This record gives sequence, C-alpha cells and structure tokens, in this order.
Amino acid sequence: IMSSPLTFQPVLDRIAAEIGQTPDRGHPADYIPALAACDPHRFGMAVAELDGTVYGVGDWRQPFSTQSLTKVFTLALDLAREADELWEHVGREPSGNPFNSLVQLEYENGIPRNPFINAGALVVTDRLHSQTGDAAGTLLDFLRAESGNDGLAINEDVAASESAHGDRNAALGHFMASYGNIRNPVPVLLDEYFRQCSVEASCADLALATGFLARHGIRADGSRLLTMSQAKQVNAVMLTCGTYDAAGEFAYRVGLPGKSGVGGGVIAVVPGRCTLCVWSPGLDEHGNSVAGVTALDRFTTITGLSVF
Ligand code: GLU
Repeated sequence: IMSSPLTFQPVLDRIAAEIGQTPDRGHPADYIPALAACDPHRFGMAVAELDGTVYGVGDWRQPFSTQSLTKVFTLALDLAREADELWEHVGREPSGNPFNSLVQLEYENGIPRNPFINAGALVVTDRLHSQTGDAAGTLLDFLRAESGNDGLAINEDVAASESAHGDRNAALGHFMASYGNIRNPVPVLLDEYFRQCSVEASCADLALATGFLARHGIRADGSRLLTMSQAKQVNAVMLTCGTYDAAGEFAYRVGLPGKSGVGGGVIAVVPGRCTLCVWSPGLDEHGNSVAGVTALDRFTTITGLSVF
C-alpha cells in the first residue's frame, strides 16, 4: 500500500497512458443535445490530498456537466441542516432499478429508496430549498468555497434543455407531492433541480469539493459540515447506491464510495486519505463512465488504497 503522496503523479500518468490505449469508450448521454455533443475520448483525472494538494492528468482542469454528482453535495448540505429528520423522507437502500424509475414509489408511499436516484434527489433538493430558500445557490456557494474556484457556474442553456426534456422528473415530483413528500411547488423544485444538475466544474474542482468526505466531515477551511457519523453515512450510501444500478459492480471493481453522473464524471473517496474525480463522457449501459470506472479500478489496484 502506497505511503508517499508524492507517488500519485506517476500513478495518474500511468493510468492515463493505459486509458489512451483503450478503444472502447461507450457513448455520451444523448437525452439532451449539450451532452450528446461531448467527445467520448476526452479523459481527465484528479486526486486531492486532505490538505488540498491536487494532482491531475489529461483534461483535469476542463469543466464538464456535473449532473448527478451534485446529489452528493445536496445530500450533505441538507443532512448538515436537518440531521436524521431527512431520513424520514428518503431511504438508504439500493433500488436495483434505473435512476429515473417510478415503480417503487407507489409501494413505498412516495418515500424514495435512496437520495441518489432521481426521486430521492428531488426530495433532498426540495428540503434543502425549504431550509435555505435557494437550493442551487447554496450548492454553488459550497462548491466554490471548497474548490477555491469562484468561477464555478450553472450552464443555463443546459438547465433549459434539462427542463425541456424533464417530463420524467416532473412526473416523479408530482407523484411524490401526491403523497405529501414534496413541500415546495413542483415547478419551483424542478427549476432548482435542473439548475443543480447543470453546474459545471472540473475534476480538480470536484476532487477538492469532495474532500470533506475524506476528512470525516471537515470542510476545506477547517469548519465542520457533517458529524463523523454523518460523513460515514454519506460515504456508505455512495458505496451502495452511488453508481446507478451497477453499484455492486463498482464496489467489486473499485472498492470505494463513489458517485457517477451522466455527464461522464465520477467522484470517489478514500476516507482519511484522499478524494478522486475522473471525467470521460462515454457511458456504459447503466450510465457510468466507461473510462472513469476503469481508471478508478486501476487506481485502487495500483495503489492498494480502497476501503477494503
Ligand atoms: N439531469 C439528469 C436527470 O435528472 C441527471 C441524470 C444523472 O446524472 O443521473 O435526468
């Protein structure tokens, strides 16, 4: 197992070289034009140490569409405010169904299985919006502070496109509202959610912003966002539910808490040690970045750094 942090750069260089030899990259998400236009051969990877030292390779400073990666941050931001009350409104079991599935909601009284399927993320964003009056703005402020990048922004064109293709999320929102599990007007919630999905950030930004989960709840400025137990909870839900209906395969290959998004990003946490973000827009049939998961698999295999 690696002990010197100085050895991360050669590891990243080696992984990028290996990925460069891999022809099969999957296909970018095609449900909105902005994502469909991404080149699947783009690849970037960053590792952030607990003290904010960042190593990177390839397109690691290129902003991309964060999409479902933001579900981790809204979960943490709401948990910090509501604590266990949140878990009365969203579960924490893997769903085994696609991320935008409606089917389990009817049997479970409008309580989504976990915060990382769309239904669960909508509940979290709704609650964060009630707590703060500005869910997407609260998220953006947090990401800017943790990454040290004030330039982070929402791509409003992507948000408009999400909205134009948002019938499934609207259905989820209205369905859960019928059970009383949504507090804001559904159109307000959807607007916040689509803007949240449309935040753009780079691997460097996101590896840094995820740092609080490796520091057991402590933010970049040394203040505490989550209790040690809450940080453990978020990491556990990432491990079991963070990579769509392929979380078992991700845990098997990578062995780290991780969260993927349809923009091709994947974040991962080595508690007590470092955080990672990989980006490559080509996805597999579950919605996970093909090169991203392979790169994380190689990272934990080469370094021995996994939670197991
Ligand atoms: N904006 C996407 C949706 O809600 C996010 C999907 C994802 O990254 O999983 O459909």
